[in-house]
Order: sequence, then C-alpha cells, then structure tokens
Amino acid sequence: MSPTQGIDSPKPVVSFEGSRDWQSLTCSIPESLARDLWDRCRVTGQSIGKVVASALAEHLQSDLSAIYQVSTAGALVHGLYKGDTTIASLREHGDFGLGTFDGLDGEMVAFDGVFYQVRGNGKVVIPPLETRTPYAMVTRFPGAGVKKIGPVNSFEQLRSRLDRLRTSDNIFYAIRIDGSFESVLTRSVFPTEEGCPLAEAASHQHEFPLKTIRGTLVGFWSPGYLSTVLVAGYHLHFLSEDKLAGGHLLDCSASDLHVQICPEADFRLTLPETRSFLGADLSGDPTADLRKAESSIHGDSSPTPNQRA
Ligand SMILES: [Zn+2]
Repeated sequence: MSPTQGIDSPKPVVSFEGSRDWQSLTCSIPESLARDLWDRCRVTGQSIGKVVASALAEHLQSDLSAIYQVSTAGALVHGLYKGDTTIASLREHGDFGLGTFDGLDGEMVAFDGVFYQVRGNGKVVIPPLETRTPYAMVTRFPGAGVKKIGPVNSFEQLRSRLDRLRTSDNIFYAIRIDGSFESVLTRSVFPTEEGCPLAEAASHQHEFPLKTIRGTLVGFWSPGYLSTVLVAGYHLHFLSEDKLAGGHLLDCSASDLHVQICPEADFRLTLPETRSFLGADLSGDPTADLRKAESSIHGDSSPTPNQRA
C-alpha cells in the first residue's frame, strides 16, 4: 500500500509485504495515526515496514538486528583502551560479534548468547558482565541459510569465497562459519597501558597455530568507506568447539565449512565519554597504522585492506 492510500477509510488497514527474515503484518489502526504514518514515510522516504518496525521495537524495548559498535578503530590505534561500556550493556544490543576488553585485555568472541575472552596467553574465559570494552561490534545474528564452501587453503581463499556470497560492497554483512579446520592461526593481545599506540601493543601479540580443530568463526564484513571508524573488509574471530582456544583470525585452511552470511544495513555507533577519548585528537587517518597493528608479526607485513582482520 502506498503512503497516500487508505486515509479516507474509517478503519485504515496497514499492510506491508514481508521480505526474507521479515514477517508480513496486517492490522487496523486509527485514521489519525495512519495519516501520521503516511506523512512520516513521505518525509523520510522510509518504507511503511521500516517505520512500523522501528516504532514497535522502541515500544517493546526490542532491538532490531542492527550492528552496534562501541568506539572507533581510530581511537584504538591512538591507544585509547579505557572502555565505559560493560558487557551487560553491550548484550542489550547484540550477543554476536567481536572486540576487545578494557586495557586491551584479549580478544572478544561472542555468539549463541555468550561473550568469551581469549586472553593474551591464549586462555579462554567467560568474563563477568561488569567487564568493560573500549571497542566492540555486535548484532543480533538473524541466521541465514547455511551455504557449504570448501576447500579453502588460506584466509585469502576464504575471503574470495565469501566475496561471492556478498551482493554489495556498501552495506555490512554479519558472518558465522562453523566447521572442522585443518589449521587456524589466531592471535591475542596482552593488557596494555593507556596511550601506548596499538601498533606497538600488537608487536607483543601472541600467535596460536591450531591444528585439526573444530570451531566457529564470528565476525563482519564492513564497507571500505568507513575505514577510519572500523576495521574495513573481513574481521573474524575464532573460538574452538571445546571453548579452549581462539582469538583474532590471521589465517586458516579447511575442507568443508558451513557459512551463514547476513546483510545488515542499520549501523549504530556509540562513543566513549572517558576523559582520554574526549581529549584525544582523532582527526587523522588511522588506516595505515591500523593495517600495521592488525597484521601478523610472523606473516605478511603489508596485507591488503581485506586482510586487516
Ligand atoms: Zn580482531
């Protein structure tokens, strides 16, 4: 139904067609409310479904599957590791994603409703809900049809296989990959003093070569035009099925992987109100420093943008 239809009916019917992952809804609402709805659609250019879903989500205190990011990659590059968002607060916006912890204390991997912390020494723990994060990216993973891919003999091959499953370079994709890996190379970071640049902190990172291991990769593909705000391209973190090993993905090989990849067009950014964040000069382009910090100390030291995972 177009925004201009139905306003003369005493009991307007609101109807919009469902798309994948959306349900169709038919209901009657007061004429005055219908007029306001049509006006909102006309002014904003949004579909009826978007406006109704946003209003319902706010009223029901439910979160649509938006990507929710805490702080910026540029802030991390500058050594701003003090977070003011707790895991308890973060999980209100999503329980699937990745990031790091207060003071750069390891890698975050979140899925199936649980937040895991892969410490610098490789040990995996479930952190208390009051633990804070200076940088994280989460969503409510909507799930998608499982696609089988493989074999892949490198992260580069995995990226090119995933590229075929994406339909745009301009929106986000939440990605979950389950399977049995022949090898996975991960890294994690040790707690670091506030102000120490990320590139220097990452030079002390530990890498973990894991062999013949089942597990899950969790993460996102993000558009390149946001490279000053986040890790553009593929950014994936790994956790083994036995929950004993994981970290930030540097490389992998596998013969048979099950991929779920979900497009996401809503993105929300919340910024810290810590003294260090408020006073920092974040006007520069952190892309080169981020690339250096995110690369493997034992691997390629000049990765392509999509290797900045
Ligand atoms: Zn990472």
